[in-house]
Amino acid sequence: MSWPASPDLLAPLAPWFGRVRRDLAWRARDLEAPHPDPYAVLVSELMLQQTQVATVVPYFQRWLEQFPDAATLAEADEDAVHKAWEGLGYYRRARFLKAAAVSIVAEGWPDDLDGLAGLPGLGPYTAAAVGAIAFQWPTPALDGNAFRVLARLLLIEGDPKARAAELRTWLVPALEALGPSRLTQALMELGATVCTPVPACGACPLGDHCAARRAGRTGDIPPVAKRAKPKASTLWLVALEAKGQFLLEAPAAKGLLAGLWRWPTFDAADHGSVPSPGSITAWPGWTQVYTHRREAVTPLHIGLAAPFAPAEGLRWVPRTELQGLPLGKRDQRLRDLLDTPGQPLLEAPDLASLVRACAAPSA
Ligand code: SF4
Repeated sequence: MSWPASPDLLAPLAPWFGRVRRDLAWRARDLEAPHPDPYAVLVSELMLQQTQVATVVPYFQRWLEQFPDAATLAEADEDAVHKAWEGLGYYRRARFLKAAAVSIVAEGWPDDLDGLAGLPGLGPYTAAAVGAIAFQWPTPALDGNAFRVLARLLLIEGDPKARAAELRTWLVPALEALGPSRLTQALMELGATVCTPVPACGACPLGDHCAARRAGRTGDIPPVAKRAKPKASTLWLVALEAKGQFLLEAPAAKGLLAGLWRWPTFDAADHGSVPSPGSITAWPGWTQVYTHRREAVTPLHIGLAAPFAPAEGLRWVPRTELQGLPLGKRDQRLRDLLDTPGQPLLEAPDLASLVRACAAPSA
């Protein structure tokens, strides 16, 4: 490894961060001392996994009002926790956060990186980030942004993640020299605002010493990983209502969507398109994009004369309780639409086939 010493190469990041740092609610003013509220750092880091800063800000504020410390969160009702997370996506993070709070209340904060990494939901990156930002440990936190910055700075060919162990070792002296919290956040900030996939090298404090910039290689370092094409589907997203009650899928105990109530969905290809019977209201659809799939969704309200015995996993829920249920982003959207005028539908799914799919098998 013939990389320049990290404290020298990264030194310009410290004054730059002092000038440009955004005033975010979870950031301590004093970057020399341990953070006064490690719980706030933990919450912010879990929320920031997979989610943009601007989206996280209001959620973080509301969360801290509702669950101001680990003890309050540890005791909180699971539905309230999901409700507070509603709209942020990747709901496992909310459950991990609560489980981490339970562990912290029972056993106190871990006193090393391995202990932090053992908390629910904290992978190596989040544990290292919390270690550096909350406790001033020189624990190198390498996420996609940091890998991109360092790959360019050091002109690393191929996937920089393959050099993770070397990069961590290389970073430690800089964390010690410039301050773990300051340098960790400065690297994150640089990756998020300047050394983005299309970098703004003219505004970069490291521009004079960046090997990729000197070599004219910022466009191909690091190489962009090819993603598998997402699977596409066309779905009816359906609010079936009978006598003031809606049919919903009750939350699963495990998996990505555990804790969330969901509207039934039906693959359009499986449930035909027939002339609409008139008891169906529709709203303009949208495309829901997930990491591995794309759903073209058409939201519908279908009024039925009477409820039927639902299949396992489905429940009739009174309209009055709908607002209090934790729903994912897609399903919230239909809940909000129910309060707005829709439009009649010309072509609809075959109602009998939907009801058959949702009803308990007859004895
Ligand atoms: S000079 Fe450009 S490529 Fe190099 S670290 Fe700065 S923004 Fe990134």
